[in-house]
Amino acid sequence: MKKILAVALTLALTLTAFAACAESKETLTMATNASFPPYEYVEGDQVVGIDPEIAAAVCEKMGYDLEIVDTEFDSLISGVASGKYDFVMAGMTVTEERKQMVSFSNTYATGVQVIIVNDDSPITSVDDLLADGANYTVGTQNATTGYIYAMSDIEDAGKGTVAAFPNGNEAVMARVNGKIDGVIIDNEPAKAYVAANEGLKILDSTYVVEDYAACFAKDNTELVEKFNAALEELTADGTIPAIIEKYIPAE
Ligand code: GLN
Repeated sequence: MKKILAVALTLALTLTAFAACAESKETLTMATNASFPPYEYVEGDQVVGIDPEIAAAVCEKMGYDLEIVDTEFDSLISGVASGKYDFVMAGMTVTEERKQMVSFSNTYATGVQVIIVNDDSPITSVDDLLADGANYTVGTQNATTGYIYAMSDIEDAGKGTVAAFPNGNEAVMARVNGKIDGVIIDNEPAKAYVAANEGLKILDSTYVVEDYAACFAKDNTELVEKFNAALEELTADGTIPAIIEKYIPAE
């Protein structure tokens, strides 16, 4: 009797160990800058938005758990390149310069660089901002494409000044407080910031059109391929279009 019990107990323990093993998936760490609604923003103590939801769906499809780290935008590329994070999703624009440091997935969304100004601003178009002798101060998020374009088109061209902020929210607050003349930022966060603050508008003219993708350490081709395969399946079955539609309803 004792022996049967002992065998049963051993079996039970072994089964429990197996179950625990089957449940513990490897975790992938995604880094982002959660100041970029509706792609990523903080709600309560959670990072939510299009990128976290796509990341969760893709990780589930690939068989990984997902952990999200919220950090400064200008540390994302170097962090993922050095292996600190497995991937980055941050409304990150695919550029040739970034491709020297990281590998990008296929793109899953389009972004447009636009300009936020005060309702009564003398700036009425991108051309006004880039005109000779314009001399405006524009805010951007540090290390973003908006910052890079503005530096070359405005500051280095001697047409005005570029102020860099750690994130979109601080750039917009500087406009609200009258410290700068306008903010260059991606169109969807621009809409969210204009909706959340009085007296702001988005100029009709677009500055630059771009593609967003996830990025990985340059040599991590295996994960990029898995990610792309999952992305493709989840696009075909309507999961990703539904996530985007939930945050950016078609007009
Ligand atoms: N799309 C811009 C870039 O990649 C801004 C992204 C962001 O601020 N999260 O530089």
